[in-house]
Amino acid sequence: MKGKGFFTAVLRHRRRVLAGYAVAAVLCAVLSLLVSVNYDINDYLPPESPSTIAIDVMEEAFGGGIPNGKKFKAAQTGGPSGGCIPASLIDTPVDYDNLTAIGCMMGSGGMIVMDEDNCMVDIAKFYLEFIVDESCGKCSPCRIGTKRLLGLLTKITEGNGEPEDLDTIEELCNHIKQSALCGLGQTAPNPVLSTLHHFRDEYIAHVVEKRCPAGVCKNLLRYTIDPAKCKGCTLCARNCPNNAISGTVRNPHVIDQDKCIKCGACESACAFGAIHIEA
Ligand code: SF4
Ligand code: SF4
Ligand code: SF4
Repeated sequence: MKGKGFFTAVLRHRRRVLAGYAVAAVLCAVLSLLVSVNYDINDYLPPESPSTIAIDVMEEAFGGGIPNGKKFKAAQTGGPSGGCIPASLIDTPVDYDNLTAIGCMMGSGGMIVMDEDNCMVDIAKFYLEFIVDESCGKCSPCRIGTKRLLGLLTKITEGNGEPEDLDTIEELCNHIKQSALCGLGQTAPNPVLSTLHHFRDEYIAHVVEKRCPAGVCKNLLRYTIDPAKCKGCTLCARNCPNNAISGTVRNPHVIDQDKCIKCGACESACAFGAIHIEA
């Protein structure tokens, strides 16, 4: 038989354990508010209370600016299911309500700052690839819907998109948000919807002009030879894996756009800077 003292000691121990859990829970809640920043930014110093600091302050005061004189393009918050904030909303204070109001979220507390060299369609596709991998497959809006979304974004980045795809994407995103079973599926469309909303001109450039303004989507690039710079050395033609370049020695060469597979071998081979890549 155990005495009264034994049970009192057990109760005291349990109270200590419970108190320990309570402290840990509070610490976790506080730590979850800390924001980590990953970016194209110089000389980062972590802010102490980022949840009250506007994104522009983060970028300029704490980040030292974007490297190589590039322009700020977007900040992506909240992990893979977060949204992208454009330069026009750079003054948005970083807190739960403000981020939610502009189609983003605090999520994991992560923030990625992107410069002008990022294609926002490609960025949306990148995050969706992660979501498709993470989907457990239990419900069809997430299992099938995110794959279908990824297919549409891939179609657009490969240069085969059509204007009506944008409406399909938006409709599908809203359906997934409303009918997915858990938070992963319900937030999965955020990167797509936020880029579609804030960077619609880039989507339009891809589907209408068949152009990637940031010069990221390989299939939408166009390799050309500047006749004024071309010395007719033939090196590019000899390096082209698809016989897309024609020309004779000491005369300007030409690229057949129908044969070009955008591999970039000619540009690397040319010692005269005669080959240009048009976005
Ligand atoms: S929404 Fe949640 S439950 Fe449904 S498939 Fe995605 S991860 Fe699974
Ligand atoms: S490698 Fe450059 S200079 Fe030589 S033929 Fe090609 S484009 Fe002209
Ligand atoms: S990009 Fe590749 S395929 Fe196109 S012309 Fe140059 S070497 Fe040939």
